[in-house]
Amino acid sequence: MEKNYGGEVESDEVLRAIFLPFLSTSHIIPLVDMARLFAMHGVDVTIITTPHNSSIFQKSIDLDSTRGRSIRTHVVKFPAEKVGLPVGVESFNVDTPRESHSKIYMGLFILQNEIEQLFDVLKADFIVTDMFYPWSVDAAAKLGIPRLMFHGASYLARSAAHSVELYSPHSKVESETEKFVLPELPHALEMTRLQLPDWLRSPNPYTELMKAIKESEKRSYGSLFNSFYELESGYHEHYKKVMGTKSWGLGPVSLWANQDASDKAARGLAKEEGGEEEEGWLKWLNSKPEKSVLYVSFGSMNKFPYSQLVEIANALEGSGHYFIWVVRKNNEAEADQEGSGFLEEFEKRVKASNKGFLIWGWAPQLLILENKAIGGLVSHCGWNTVVESVNAGLPTVTWPLFAEHFFNEKLVVDVLRIGVPVGAKEWRQWNEFGSEIVKRDDIGNAIALMMDEQEGAEMRRRAEVLSDAAKKAIQVGGTSYNSIIELIQELKSVKLSKGQKQHD
Ligand code: UDP
Repeated sequence: MEKNYGGEVESDEVLRAIFLPFLSTSHIIPLVDMARLFAMHGVDVTIITTPHNSSIFQKSIDLDSTRGRSIRTHVVKFPAEKVGLPVGVESFNVDTPRESHSKIYMGLFILQNEIEQLFDVLKADFIVTDMFYPWSVDAAAKLGIPRLMFHGASYLARSAAHSVELYSPHSKVESETEKFVLPELPHALEMTRLQLPDWLRSPNPYTELMKAIKESEKRSYGSLFNSFYELESGYHEHYKKVMGTKSWGLGPVSLWANQDASDKAARGLAKEEGGEEEEGWLKWLNSKPEKSVLYVSFGSMNKFPYSQLVEIANALEGSGHYFIWVVRKNNEAEADQEGSGFLEEFEKRVKASNKGFLIWGWAPQLLILENKAIGGLVSHCGWNTVVESVNAGLPTVTWPLFAEHFFNEKLVVDVLRIGVPVGAKEWRQWNEFGSEIVKRDDIGNAIALMMDEQEGAEMRRRAEVLSDAAKKAIQVGGTSYNSIIELIQELKSVKLSKGQKQHD
């Protein structure tokens, strides 16, 4: 236990919640946004995390405190030395060496007791913990309080995984590339064995972890998703039915929790305010016509090999469209071998032609997506980005890579019909790319189709309808709004009846 930030708990009338995010940026961002929503609705919120991870979102919490919300971060020291890691290596992020992963898990295991005690000491009335903490359901049971589980994925992705677990459709086809339909889902969604996550294709240690997560979900009070009813209503209903659990969609959390520009700018690994680069992209974007610019980004975790970066660069330059590309360099040695300075030369060239803008590392994605000049995305279909692009009313060239991206692609392309697939054929482990790369022509063709004024018009219209629905969902009387109000009411009743029992 190191320090506390922000306001103090005031009275026993107040509902007290503890939020425990996982140690990776794209799980932290939506769960912290969710925590902030509960604080916005009068719940006293404490977020427990480690020092490095708190730096990702502390600015947002400080902003909320100045707004009078009862929210703070409780920082616990990550036991880096005990597990043999350098201080500061305590998250699963793009630069985390693979050999550190098991040590970070070990660190989390060591922290478990301390965190469990905090649930008690901080007198939580309920806890909201990431899916990757299945142990927390037992911790909550010991204290007699509800545990809500946060899913980083979509209802469709969880329903699809459940369908594969139950019916093994991939075992009934002859080859890795033969298509099969995912059984018993609201739509006839087709996939190939190669597009399934490895843990679903055949059992591995991750399959066991996912089983434990599912078991813990079934014993939880319910689950929370960064989704909204109108986005995937069929899957929302389907999921609750097949799981037999309660579940609430509270999204789009990014839209709801970050209504001011200051919130949007503070989000994630943002640079210090007033940085030159930040102004640069905004000035550049503001000089472009409406819906003319592509936003090209592959989330917080991805680093393509050099050869793939070359294909993307050529496709973007050849597309004739304006673009903002959030790029991370991979292996310098590889770049040196194949011609050093390619990306730097590319950057100079597209700057001179005024066609493109490169952002190195981290981009203020929410601010960029809401800019009128943006006309569409090229994206890996990370769930947060799908929700954020829908919220912005934008179509996407879908390029799924790892995690549950291939399922999300099905939602975007086949169900919502607001995407054009780049033709990705194979699910890969995070940042393992093998020898196959997506060629510039395939990238270029998908971009051309999405940006085409006629071909893309219907897609754009559908995306705009969804954007309106997203905005309505969080307004008074909207689906996500009603969900959080109902849930808080329920949790208050649970607290009340617990108090009465203790009194009797
Ligand atoms: N993000 C951002 N700037 C970046 C990269 C990512 O703001 O340069 C945010 C993005 O808005 C989203 C999250 O980080 O909220 C990425 O989550 P997603 O599920 O899309 O992808 P992942 O990082 O899990 O691959």
